[in-house]
Amino acid sequence: MKMVGHLGEDYQEWVHQPIVSKEGPRFFESDFWEFLTRTAWWAIPSIWLPVVCWFISMSYRMGHTPSELFLMVVFGVFVWTLLEYTLHRFLFHIKTKSYWGNTLHYLLHGCHHKHPMDSLRLVFPPAATAILLFPFWNLIKLFATPSTTPCLVGGGLLGYVMYDVTHHYLHHGQPSGETARNLKKYHLNHHFRIQTLGFGITSSLWDKVFGTLPPPSKVAEKRRR
Ligand SMILES: [Zn+2]
Ligand SMILES: [Zn+2]
Ligand SMILES: [Zn+2]
Repeated sequence: MKMVGHLGEDYQEWVHQPIVSKEGPRFFESDFWEFLTRTAWWAIPSIWLPVVCWFISMSYRMGHTPSELFLMVVFGVFVWTLLEYTLHRFLFHIKTKSYWGNTLHYLLHGCHHKHPMDSLRLVFPPAATAILLFPFWNLIKLFATPSTTPCLVGGGLLGYVMYDVTHHYLHHGQPSGETARNLKKYHLNHHFRIQTLGFGITSSLWDKVFGTLPPPSKVAEKRRR
């Protein structure tokens, strides 16, 4: 783990050469810190879905009708999909070469590209999500009224849960449906072929909007089968 920072300019190349085994690397010598870096996928819905319900109920108690709440949740999920794309493209794939830059990138997303099949380093650790909820809440508050903010944040958080569970499923599930199979190929293409394209996980919508769709030959491969 300490080595990662010292790779300097070679880090970016190293981290995008995946090791496809189920075992993950050890990050910290301390068992306590090591424990915090490992999260089972089912922890994500178990912890966050009750929080989603709580946020929605806050707006309900402030007088919103169920159909209003439904629309806010849908809009919150939609906002999340844009955030998912933005974070993955610009933050998770930021180019680093300094010691701390490399180390932070490795903890955030690099480890997932280095060890794409390590199922305990795939979803986002709940402690980190809890911290990030505060700036997200404040961001939404800028554009929303006090009574709609909780429900919109709830919708965004629901979108995040759907994203993290989907991401885990794309790596470890065996999808039988057409849509899920294509999504899996789409994401594996991001890992194993072109890491600078195809940033959407739950859909390719924003890749289309911002022109980061992988070249048609690769997409056509899917269609031909
Ligand atoms: Zn990535
Ligand atoms: Zn990457
Ligand atoms: Zn992945």
